[in-house]
Amino acid sequence: RFITFEGTEGVGKSTQLQRAARALSDLGLEVEITREPGGTPMAEKIRELLLAPREEPVSDITELLLMFAARAQHLRNRILPALEQGRWVLCDRFTDATFAYQGGGRGVPPEQIEILETLVQGDVRPDHVILLDAPVETGMARAKKRGELDRFEQETLAFFQRIRETYLERATANPGQYHVVNAELPLDQVSESVTALLIAIARM
Ligand code: C5P
Repeated sequence: RFITFEGTEGVGKSTQLQRAARALSDLGLEVEITREPGGTPMAEKIRELLLAPREEPVSDITELLLMFAARAQHLRNRILPALEQGRWVLCDRFTDATFAYQGGGRGVPPEQIEILETLVQGDVRPDHVILLDAPVETGMARAKKRGELDRFEQETLAFFQRIRETYLERATANPGQYHVVNAELPLDQVSESVTALLIAIARM
């Protein structure tokens, strides 16, 4: 199964993903964890390009194409082979992040993102999306402390609010695929909810 973890800055995605992977391994399942942008040597290089301080203006379309270039590598060289071997793939962000950040955040029309989604993924979509949701202010304080927001210096709070809204709209439109988890609760309570969800999915 292909499960992705999504959410705005500092909601605790990586921690929750690690814990979830452990819980599934404890059930005897083969689990592979990975992340986007990244997940293969070339895709990780593209990630570095995307996250590095920018030496020249970078257009929204350039950012979008780099995201999908990394995704094309990741999907073909890592995600699909793992799924074919019957492994569970837990991925820290995927195409929903593109709709949220490049779409909702930067303003790229969703129809344009859908064209690339079809080109790169065909009909491959995550089986389940775990959306860790919290007010943006909560996570941003945490992310700022870790220096993760430097790249977004030009952006206002509204940028991050649009990202959260886009995630929530996508979840509402497709309740069978998306699971919204309240990430404002203490870490242990969040991981209990996430683990319970994944166990239910494993038994489906
Ligand atoms: O998930 P993680 O915090 O590791 O992501 C690294 C950075 O890349 C974050 O600041 C995230 O918001 C950003 N990102 C983005 N657009 C995406 C995926 C990630 O701007 N599609």
